[in-house]
Amino acid sequence: MTCDRLLLATGNSPQGHRIAQSLGSKIEPTAPSLFTFTIPEQKLTALAGVSVPVAQLKLTVPGPDASDPKAQIKAQIKAQIKLHQSGPLLITHWGLSGPAVLKLSAWGARALKASGYKAQLQVNWLPEHHPGEIQAQLEAGRREAPRRQIINHRPFSFPQRLWEHWVGRAGIAPDQRWAELSNKAIQRLAQELYQGEYAIQGKGVFKDEFVTCGGVALGGVNFKTMESKACAGLHFAGEILDIDGVTGGFNFQSAWTTGWLAGQAIAHHPSDQSP
Ligand SMILES: Cc1cc2nc3c(=O)[nH]c(=O)nc-3n(C[C@H](O)[C@H](O)[C@H](O)COP(=O)(O)OP(=O)(O)OC[C@H]3O[C@@H](n4cnc5c(N)ncnc54)[C@H](O)[C@@H]3O)c2cc1C
Repeated sequence: MTCDRLLLATGNSPQGHRIAQSLGSKIEPTAPSLFTFTIPEQKLTALAGVSVPVAQLKLTVPGPDASDPKAQIKAQIKAQIKLHQSGPLLITHWGLSGPAVLKLSAWGARALKASGYKAQLQVNWLPEHHPGEIQAQLEAGRREAPRRQIINHRPFSFPQRLWEHWVGRAGIAPDQRWAELSNKAIQRLAQELYQGEYAIQGKGVFKDEFVTCGGVALGGVNFKTMESKACAGLHFAGEILDIDGVTGGFNFQSAWTTGWLAGQAIAHHPSDQSP
């Protein structure tokens, strides 16, 4: 089959990438982006539905998973990477989600794929407080309510279930009285609040991710017409291109904008204008 103009807008379909490649385009390796983190920790997932308006996250992704010889992206990611993000955080029945997590998954998409989606997440649940302030507030709790059970006196205004989660993770019995808390226990509890460590064991279910990074390399595309530099008359639009945005409609916008540019260029191609 032959044609003068062709617009490839096949999203993240590997078939579209193969067609583009056969017509001279370079394809950047693909990786899922905008996904949630699987953290199979029963004490956490039991809180499914609880959210906090602002948490500060630090993601540490180790080097590539050496046991996965097929990881195409491996060669590009050689060392451990660290990424930071803050924003709303949602606990789900499989781990963590919410805008802060989705953004981290986008920035770390390639490294996370290379690591086999095994990474370390540090959560600061109280980013508006300095760590020293958190410790001081817990010590004040011990002074002010020595006879109360720790579970019944929260020095911070957070959901009771979250408070129970932190206390449990710090290895403190819920019925222990504040007066009985050692300085070390207070320190452990403070650390849970400002640098709780969570082990990411995977990403949300396959095909749950919103977008794919990678695709037709942008260096081979004319941005005014979205035409391939390698194959005249071949245009690209949307997610087939190596463009991926974070949440907020940027992927839709990219698909609409590149589609409009390609459509205009195809409709008004100089070779089609009558004399
Ligand atoms: C659950 C989910 C939620 C999302 N939410 C958002 C959001 O809130 N904001 C945002 O900006 N983006 C969001 N996205 C991403 C956004 O939907 C995509 O980036 C966008 O739709 C890409 O548009 P596209 O036209 O390039 O590809 P697609 O919408 O994937 O369309 C490609 C089409 O090509 C067809 N096709 C593929 N191969 C062939 C072939 N060989 N022959 C014929 N047809 C073929 C496919 O069937 C499909 O119909 C979301 C995605 C998902 C999955």
